[in-house]
Amino acid sequence: MFQRYEGKVWEDKFLPRLSYRQIRELPKEQALLILPIGAVEQHGDHMPVMTDSLIGEAVLTRTMEQMDDDSPIWLLPPISYGKSNEHLDFPGTISLSASTLENIILDIARSVKQAGFRRLLLFNTHGGNADLLNMAAREVRIQTGLMVFYISAGSLQTADDLLDADEKEYGIHAGDYETSLLLAIKPGWVHTDRLVKEMPNMAQYDFLTMEGKIRFAWVMSDLSSSGVLGDATKATADKGELILQRIADALSQALEEVRRFEITDVKQGKVPVPNGD
Ligand SMILES: [Zn+2]
Repeated sequence: MFQRYEGKVWEDKFLPRLSYRQIRELPKEQALLILPIGAVEQHGDHMPVMTDSLIGEAVLTRTMEQMDDDSPIWLLPPISYGKSNEHLDFPGTISLSASTLENIILDIARSVKQAGFRRLLLFNTHGGNADLLNMAAREVRIQTGLMVFYISAGSLQTADDLLDADEKEYGIHAGDYETSLLLAIKPGWVHTDRLVKEMPNMAQYDFLTMEGKIRFAWVMSDLSSSGVLGDATKATADKGELILQRIADALSQALEEVRRFEITDVKQGKVPVPNGD
C-alpha cells in the first residue's frame, strides 16, 4: 500500500519538503534529482485514469525506501499529466501536447540548473511519453548543460517470466502487468468485477508488430474497444507486489550508478584524429 506524503521517503527525500536555505546548502556535486512523469488517461473500465502516475510514485517510493538514507537522491513533485492524445477518445483522459510537455520539462530543468544541481533523471511510467522524452532529454542536455537521464519503468523488464507470451507481445495497456501493480499499490481503486481481456488481431503479420520492426501509427480506439490491451483477468496483487519489489531492487542499483556518472569521463580523449594534429 502506498500513501502519498507519508513515510520516510516523502519526509526525508522529497526536495520541496525543504526550505530554500536547506536546498541552497545541500551538497549538489553528487546529487541526483528525479522527476516522475506519468499520465492521466483511461485504463479500461477497471482502473482509475490516474494509474500511470500512481505506479510511478509508488515505484519510486519503494525504491528510495530501500536506499541508503544518506544517498543524495531527491524526488521532485511529479508531472502527473503526460502526452496521452492516443487515449482522448475515452473520457477522463487529460493530455498535454508534445510541445507543452517538452516545455514543462525544459522549464523545470532550467530551474534545477539555476539552483546548482547537475543531474536530472526523467522517470517515466507512460508508454505514450517515451518518444517525446527521448527528444526532450537531449534538448535539456543541449540547452542547460545538465547531465540528463531517462528511464521508463517497463524497460527494466522485471516481469518477463511472470507474464504469458501474448501479454508480453500485446499487453501494453491496462493488462496483467499494470493491473497487478495497481492491485498491490492501491487495491481500493481497482474494480476487480470488471477485469477484461482484449488482444489486437495481429497474428497474421510478421513485420508489423506493436512496438518493433515496422510500426504503424495508432490511437487506442483503433486497437481496442474496451480501452484495454492485454489480459487483466490474470492480474493478482501478489504478482504486482513481486513486480514492484523487482523494479525497486533493479532501480535502486541503477540510481546509485546514475548518481556516480560523470559525462566528462565518457570520452576517451587520447584517440588520435586521422589527419589531425
Ligand atoms: Zn498505463
